Amino acid sequence: MNKSETHHFQAEIQQLLNIVIHSLYTDKEIFVRELISNAADACEKLRFNQSSGTTVYQSEIAPGIAITTDDKANTITITDTGLGMTHGELVENLGTIAHSGTKAFLKQLAEEKKPDVGLIGQFGVGFYSAFMVARKVTVLSRSFKPDETGWQWTSEGGGGYELAPAADLPRGTKITLELKDDAKDFAQEHTIEHIIKRYSSFVPFPIELNTKRLNTVQAIWARNKNEIKEEEYNEFYTFVGHDHEKPLFRLHFTADAPLAIQALLFVPGRNFETLGMGRMDSEVNLYCRKVLIQAKAKGLFPEWLRFLKGVVDSEDLPLNISRETMQDTSLMQKLNKVLTSRFLKFLDEQSAADAGAYEKFYHEYQRFLKEGVVTDFTHKEALGKLLRYESSALDKGKLTSLADYVGRMNSEQKEIYCLLAANREAAEASPYYEVFKERKFEVLFLYDAWDEFVIEHLHTFDSKPLKLAEKADLNLSAKKEGALTEDAAKSLATWLKETLGDKVGEVRTSQRLVESPAVVVDSDKFMTASMRRMMKAMKQDGPDLPAGKQDLEINPAHPIMARLDAMRQKDATLAGSVAEQILDNARVAAGVLEDPRAMLTRLNTLLEKVLT
Ligand code: ADP
Ligand code: MG
Repeated sequence: MNKSETHHFQAEIQQLLNIVIHSLYTDKEIFVRELISNAADACEKLRFNQSSGTTVYQSEIAPGIAITTDDKANTITITDTGLGMTHGELVENLGTIAHSGTKAFLKQLAEEKKPDVGLIGQFGVGFYSAFMVARKVTVLSRSFKPDETGWQWTSEGGGGYELAPAADLPRGTKITLELKDDAKDFAQEHTIEHIIKRYSSFVPFPIELNTKRLNTVQAIWARNKNEIKEEEYNEFYTFVGHDHEKPLFRLHFTADAPLAIQALLFVPGRNFETLGMGRMDSEVNLYCRKVLIQAKAKGLFPEWLRFLKGVVDSEDLPLNISRETMQDTSLMQKLNKVLTSRFLKFLDEQSAADAGAYEKFYHEYQRFLKEGVVTDFTHKEALGKLLRYESSALDKGKLTSLADYVGRMNSEQKEIYCLLAANREAAEASPYYEVFKERKFEVLFLYDAWDEFVIEHLHTFDSKPLKLAEKADLNLSAKKEGALTEDAAKSLATWLKETLGDKVGEVRTSQRLVESPAVVVDSDKFMTASMRRMMKAMKQDGPDLPAGKQDLEINPAHPIMARLDAMRQKDATLAGSVAEQILDNARVAAGVLEDPRAMLTRLNTLLEKVLT
């Protein structure tokens, strides 16, 4: 038997090991991930050699990974039946620095005066992370090359390592860690089981822990779509989504450019935020070649897609990328943009392919899409396509897209009209709707308090401005018969302003009313009545907002106006009461009357008069 040889570590490795050994780290457990991913790489390489026809030592042994813990001896052993290492490879791989994460970490050490060694776990220092928990590491390895023999590599992390021949080894690598006193927990089966499940559930080779098979869920995202059964998808969703119901939508896609991506995303059947469970956190996990980089990865999707669950795998991410820096790398931003655009395109396709399913989705998740319109400039247009509203052109309960609305617009119409209302009945009875009805212009009916902000942020769709009905500058197509003359109407308006005083802004004649005698219109360009209502609802205890002043528009063709004009000559007091009542009625119709009690007293007095 040959004598054992002593080797020295490369200077940089020495420096690294000093830090690994002499400092305290919080992320120690990542050594499990690092050693298992090395083992999986070795299995992958073996499989590659086998499939390309190379003669492999002990070819009957399938590639796999076995881990044993011994809490008496305080050891953990990771064995793989991968391709193993020759003498030269052991020297090259475990004594010099090749690992990109290790390089990055050392670079940071060199650049910073007081390096944050706590980051070491986040860099993942590959094989050397074993020394975070081990006082001694023994590697037994036997290469797959038939003519080779086995070698034993041992090190206590000091200046170097010993290499000695080892006879009769099976193919592959066996790494034994003799644990430090403060790392004894890693000799406990349940601790290791937990860590493996967290990081290595989808490693594509069997992992056994103390002879128990651990990873049974396949990384189906990496498989061909056509070969995956519906049940497999559902089973996988239950696993990653922690949800026993079926998902609403599923998107499985791969891309090569601009990034290599394999993604399997799910929309849960229900929106958990509306179930009163508080704000959700994105549950999309980020993998690099099936090894977890980050669970619930931050920054992978925009906030407004936080309802998504699933997996994104990108080969372009280094395994050891720092979690801190990952959030703002351009790589992450690129990934975010590609994924978001792809998902929006998917939703658009779904809405065409299965309108029913899309409406169900929309019902659950519209608030997220709207949040996107308001907060995410990049995807605003794609999001606009996904909005759905009831419309005056469709039956109650039916929804239209903005694109379909635009398709129905006649040549006269230049804007997309939107009417904010509590429900269908209120919308159709609204005085603001009258002119649209008469001119046969389609109006979208918006029932959600958020819609006003959505309309404002979206601003245009298909280069057509979105316009709130109450702000639309439209007149009736024909003059009504029996209307007050222009002059008479003007003088009535002047009288009304004098009578109502501060209660209104301006009073003017309207050309857009059919059924209603009058309507209030916001004089404030920026704040509409509904917005004011919403702000009031949001700050219930706060001081009242200054009551917005409204302008009054009167309908010169309405019989009430003609009679009021006559009455003001005869009985100014009665006419004054009627004027106030007309204003209040218009406020009721607009939903902005604050206290109806004062109105009731007046109304009763008026009724008395009528009944005499
Ligand atoms: P990386 O995995 O990023 O290359 P590591 O420090 O984790 O860096 O490992 C260094 C090298 O050691 C690997 O590239 C590989 O060649 C070799 N190696 C480590 N573990 C094994 C193993 N279990 N079987 C075969 N080779 C291994
Ligand atoms: Mg590695």
